Amino acid sequence: MQHWLKLAELDFPPEQFARFLLDWYGREGRSLPWRNTRDPYPIWLAEIMLQQTTVAAVSDYFQRFIERFPTLQALAEASLEEVIDLWAGLGYYSRARNLHATAVRVTTVFAGEFPRSAAELQQLPGIGRSTAGAISALAFEQHAAILDGNVRRVLCRLFALQEAPRSSRAEKQLWAWSEMLTPHERIHDYTQAIMDLGATVCTPRKPLCDQCPVGELCRARQLDLVAVLPLKQASKKIPTRREVVLLVNRNGRYLVRRRPAAGFLGGLWEFPGSYVNEDERLEQRLAWLKAELGLSGPARKLAEVEHVYSHFRLKVIPYLLEAGAGSVAEGSDWVERSELTTIALHGAHKKVLATLAEG
Ligand code: SF4
Repeated sequence: MQHWLKLAELDFPPEQFARFLLDWYGREGRSLPWRNTRDPYPIWLAEIMLQQTTVAAVSDYFQRFIERFPTLQALAEASLEEVIDLWAGLGYYSRARNLHATAVRVTTVFAGEFPRSAAELQQLPGIGRSTAGAISALAFEQHAAILDGNVRRVLCRLFALQEAPRSSRAEKQLWAWSEMLTPHERIHDYTQAIMDLGATVCTPRKPLCDQCPVGELCRARQLDLVAVLPLKQASKKIPTRREVVLLVNRNGRYLVRRRPAAGFLGGLWEFPGSYVNEDERLEQRLAWLKAELGLSGPARKLAEVEHVYSHFRLKVIPYLLEAGAGSVAEGSDWVERSELTTIALHGAHKKVLATLAEG
């Protein structure tokens, strides 16, 4: 049964945890391109990129962004489309949109200087409580706690939390633990250290408990619960939508269009498509889509793909249509087959690309 500590309690001195962790970080800490600086611009950029993504996937993108936009001002002056195109392949594109919005906001509202406190940073687009804490701690040495995915996992195990970690009760408890463990000195190193611990030792699968610097404090290890913690979150029920998509090929080039900047998947590229109404046949929607694009001729059905967003599940039904000469609807572009893998195509239609190879 879960032993709930009072919110303001730990069953070991927090200084001991910080000391074990910092000693280990001194020996094993990772050297990363955005670490040897206190400049909030690269720190913020890296933190946004690292949300939902691993260090290995982020490194090249980070270098590319710093080269193209060496300052916050340069990023603020770029167009949103330019930022999204450079982000292509990294996924979770709302981060790119928020990145641009924050650059503009800090430049115009804060005279180009990031605010120092986590509370103020949290007011900026795309900066949640944990990211705000990380920037505040890493760039400004402020006493601010973090609770990213790695730290969440470490704390769930350290305290053997036997509750789904995203429940509101667990959330409150995890933040309380994180705040209690965060020291008042060497906050920059501590923040990096606890992130590293989750990323390299207390990993989702097969954590390296034998090499863990805080292993002797870990309750999951004492109770032999490491393999089952954190507990799995119950998946929530979401509706399913269908979308008919046309892969229009003309001499090896394919028709794509950019979604409007504002709204769902804003600014990303996609194949022309249309959502199917609940009581509608696919053929009806396909005919509607062809008419919208000014196209005619037979279309061959390819394999369906499925993509899950946070609020709905999408079934994409792709059709291949060989187009002859003639114009198509405005706002579309023809792109070489090889280029389709490099543009910022949104996730569901990226999966559709695979059906092209098979079809
Ligand atoms: S002992 Fe194992 S489970 Fe506990 S914090 Fe360390 S790596 Fe994670």
